[in-house]
Amino acid sequence: MIASKGFAAKQAKAPIEPFSFERRDPLPNDVVIAIEFCGICHSDVHQVNEDWFPGIFPMVPGHEIVGRVSRVGSAVKKFKVGDLAGVGVMVDSCRKCESCKLGQETYCDIGAIFTYNGRDKNGEPTYGGYANNIVVDEAYTLKIPANLDLAATAPLLCAGITTYSPLRHWKAGKHSKVGIVGLGGLGHMGLKFAHAMGAHVVQFTTSAKKKEDALRLGADEVVMSNDAKAIQAHASSFDVILDTVSADHDINAYVNLLKRDAVLVLLGAPDRPASLSVFPLLMKRRSIAGSGAGGIRETQEMLDFCSQHNVVSDIEIVPTTKINEAYKRLLANDVKYRFVLDIARAGQ
Ligand code: NAP
Ligand code: ZN
Ligand code: ZN
Repeated sequence: MIASKGFAAKQAKAPIEPFSFERRDPLPNDVVIAIEFCGICHSDVHQVNEDWFPGIFPMVPGHEIVGRVSRVGSAVKKFKVGDLAGVGVMVDSCRKCESCKLGQETYCDIGAIFTYNGRDKNGEPTYGGYANNIVVDEAYTLKIPANLDLAATAPLLCAGITTYSPLRHWKAGKHSKVGIVGLGGLGHMGLKFAHAMGAHVVQFTTSAKKKEDALRLGADEVVMSNDAKAIQAHASSFDVILDTVSADHDINAYVNLLKRDAVLVLLGAPDRPASLSVFPLLMKRRSIAGSGAGGIRETQEMLDFCSQHNVVSDIEIVPTTKINEAYKRLLANDVKYRFVLDIARAGQ
């Protein structure tokens, strides 16, 4: 077994504290990654707090992982020792179902194996990226472009692909009008991608102080989410709206902003069910959809897109001694726009 030093919540809602554990010895197709940086996703906080479902504890969160390969199994082809490598929200899936065969492994018909708070094929808990290393099959490991800042690349592995994937699926581009609701980790990546794809982008935010940032990050317009009149001015005009809000909020106002046949994509996962008025949907054949992180192929495509367009996350690097403080600030909406843990430095 491989010794791993990480940071875990020992039980639901508990603070994150140092935790030593073991990872499997690399199988023939596995790579061992010495983790350098790991982003803090709002999903980490939801899962530590059991907002969605009972968690597996101790829980080592973290699914925005970048580092360097430190060891390879005997059959590994894609990586050699020293290569940059990344891991996102999943570490395996059944590989046989229709979704897996199509490269949509996050939607695996029997359930993907998530990077943490899941169970591997032997029933052992999976532990995430708030740790000095991880062992992952190369098929679920991403190549990280060398021209991008490594710490700012980490959030692409979840916040990046979760916003890139629906923009591609619903064909955002030069002639579309895209709305982004919430300017946080996911929101700011959605904004950057929609802008880079050539769309006209409108950022909706509850935070007046983020307006200048939204414009700098690529928004063509910024609308305060509590300004009913400003919202109404965009009625029936959007092709796609990505809703990235992490807390309970009214989604009906955004349904009204969709054109005929257009879609509101729910990415944020609040702990409570949303309430929905049906009329605005049926009056214009509008849709509401959910979307998860993309599969491995699309995640690699997204990383290559970022390499070409020089897109990374806006980050604040935090030492591992300040994880609990970062969680509090994330819940207080005080982050611009993603916390990234400096894992490599924790070991020194
Ligand atoms: P985040 O950085 O905290 O951003 C959430 C944003 O939502 C905030 O910046 C804020 O934007 C807005 N917001 C917060 N509380 C609000 C409230 N009460 N009412 C209205 N707006 C509010 O979180 P994140 O990491 O981007 O994650 C966002 C959500 O997506 C979380 O629920 C997370 O679990 C989920 N998620 C889903 C997937 C997926 O596969 N679909 C993947 C990753 C994350 P403004 O200040 O601009 O209003
Ligand atoms: Zn995430
Ligand atoms: Zn599958």
